[in-house]
Amino acid sequence: SMEYRDGQWQQPKVVPFGDLSLSPATATLHYGQTVFEGMKAFKSEDGDVNIFRLQDHLNRFNNSCARMCIPQPDANLLGKAIKKLIAIDRDWVPEKYGNALYIRPIVFAADACLGVKPAQTYRLIVLTSPVGAYYEEGFDPVNLTTTEDYIRAVKGGSGFVKTACNYGPTLLPAKKAKENGFTQIIWLDAHEHKYIEEVGTMNIFFKINGELYTPSLNGSILGGITRDSVIQLADKWDTPIHQRPLTIDEIFEEDDKGNLEEIFGTGTAAVISPVGSINHKGQTIVTDREQIGPFAQRLYDTITGIQYSTLEDTYQWMSSIG
Ligand code: PMP
Repeated sequence: SMEYRDGQWQQPKVVPFGDLSLSPATATLHYGQTVFEGMKAFKSEDGDVNIFRLQDHLNRFNNSCARMCIPQPDANLLGKAIKKLIAIDRDWVPEKYGNALYIRPIVFAADACLGVKPAQTYRLIVLTSPVGAYYEEGFDPVNLTTTEDYIRAVKGGSGFVKTACNYGPTLLPAKKAKENGFTQIIWLDAHEHKYIEEVGTMNIFFKINGELYTPSLNGSILGGITRDSVIQLADKWDTPIHQRPLTIDEIFEEDDKGNLEEIFGTGTAAVISPVGSINHKGQTIVTDREQIGPFAQRLYDTITGIQYSTLEDTYQWMSSIG
């Protein structure tokens, strides 16, 4: 736990897990001035605990803070505090939960003030929770649908950062999609409603004719850390990777021509999530629902191998908690 007051961040403290006591006027509850991150620590066979891309997550945290007018904490200090917190008890990364620990830093405006203005005081909390293996019984492909009725993010808005404000408005459209038999929404751009952006908590990739395509970071898409890891690996494997605006229509056209080989989402929770189908205005692309594609499988094996230290960490993605 860390507090911002008198114009600066105070030293971090380890405190027992417990409820917060907040004024009903706490600014963040009213105006959503809050930012968070989601990352994971992994325990290797010999008991070492390593966090996946800690500095990159903290850099994104700070970029999110900048957009939300929250004073940035010192990323080095915060990184050290997170490692120290986990190192208190390595059994927090328990075997029975797949040897992984989810780490959730959150910062929020703490002023008890109903004025709409940036707060003077903030609280930063890091909470952790063991996470089970995402795929216990093999991969479970997701079925996506576009929506005509809702948008996720606009240019100039906050879609490219990780703030609570982006998630609340997606709950109703996601609920409706579920009622119609879909797992999640694949969001299109707000302005022309034809460019693919991302999925609820994942970025999206298409493998077409042996090459990889993903929407470019256009100011309304969250720059996923897993997305970046996939791009680095594809690059190393000499798989051409195109980051550019992608229309939903061109994906359907490539599918019609038989060129669409694989679709998968990327994110911290599942790492790689095969996409079984995409529905758009009643037209459907269906991939092989029972299978994960070979490229997605290779990515999954490589990233999880690095995370659990069974493969060499050539990119220095892992940082040891010491
Ligand atoms: N998009 C959104 C909106 C997300 O919430 C997430 C999960 N953080 C992602 C993409 C994937 O990002 P990452 O790979 O960093 O988990």
